[in-house]
Amino acid sequence: MLESEKSEKLRKAGMVSANARERGMAMVKEGVKALDVAEEVEGYIVSHGCKLAFPCNISINEIAAHYTPSINDKTVFKTGDLVKIDCGAHLDGFVGDTAGTVEVGTNRFRELIESAKDARDTVMEFIGENCPINEIGAAVDMTISNKGYRPIKNLTGHQIEPYNLHAGLCIPNYDNGDTEKLRKNMVIACEPFATNGVGMVVGGRWGNICRIIRDHPVDDPNLQAFFNDIKDKFKTFPFCARLCDDNMASQKISKLIRHGLVSSYALCVEQNKGYVAQFEHTIYISEKKAEIITLCDGGY
Ligand code: MN
Ligand code: MN
Repeated sequence: MLESEKSEKLRKAGMVSANARERGMAMVKEGVKALDVAEEVEGYIVSHGCKLAFPCNISINEIAAHYTPSINDKTVFKTGDLVKIDCGAHLDGFVGDTAGTVEVGTNRFRELIESAKDARDTVMEFIGENCPINEIGAAVDMTISNKGYRPIKNLTGHQIEPYNLHAGLCIPNYDNGDTEKLRKNMVIACEPFATNGVGMVVGGRWGNICRIIRDHPVDDPNLQAFFNDIKDKFKTFPFCARLCDDNMASQKISKLIRHGLVSSYALCVEQNKGYVAQFEHTIYISEKKAEIITLCDGGY
């Protein structure tokens, strides 16, 4: 495939994911169901010619990442909630991964939200070919720390390759001493997380998201057929029961987890129950100055 063809697919996936993110964030209000927001975001991506790179993550307050509403999810946003919307679209494997944070009905977390957003946007000003990855982390840490908050050190951005959401490089949220440089044609997700807690996450309960990790036959033909379907539909990308076209999906996924073919993602929960804000862009390292691909029609 030509480099230009690849970048066109990447750009389309990026813009669709960004528009979906903005739609989702605009819907977050007191009394609205998280499930309705997830379905709107995912519906937007699919109806605009892309596929889901993962289920829409809607993580609230001290939960930093990895929650998606279940099929009958009753979660409703409350005044004072700090809500992260993290969504991804792909076109033939080319991924746009993007996130933003909104607070429901209050202004208590305005500065925390801004610190994560400013950290991301500071990085956008200099990220490009030959940029050492620890300098990205240092800029994130400095921007967040200057506002009196902490970056989450054990959550990172990541390199993205076709059909591989977390490939190769990790992009730190502090100076981890890794001086490896970004190279031309890499795709990178930069995702600062800021908190008023201690700046570390621990694993929580399962947040409904899983991923195929092994391909191996199972005895039950019914389960094998389900496995074949999800392998075909989601490939290596994260998914959840809600996105499977099968009303026994939850039970079947549990069985596949027990068989070791599917792995479940634990929630990432701030260690001190601090509140967490996150912003994320996907960037194409096209030249010295990189191209932000997850800009929406409105340009942010
Ligand atoms: Mn993301
Ligand atoms: Mn990401």
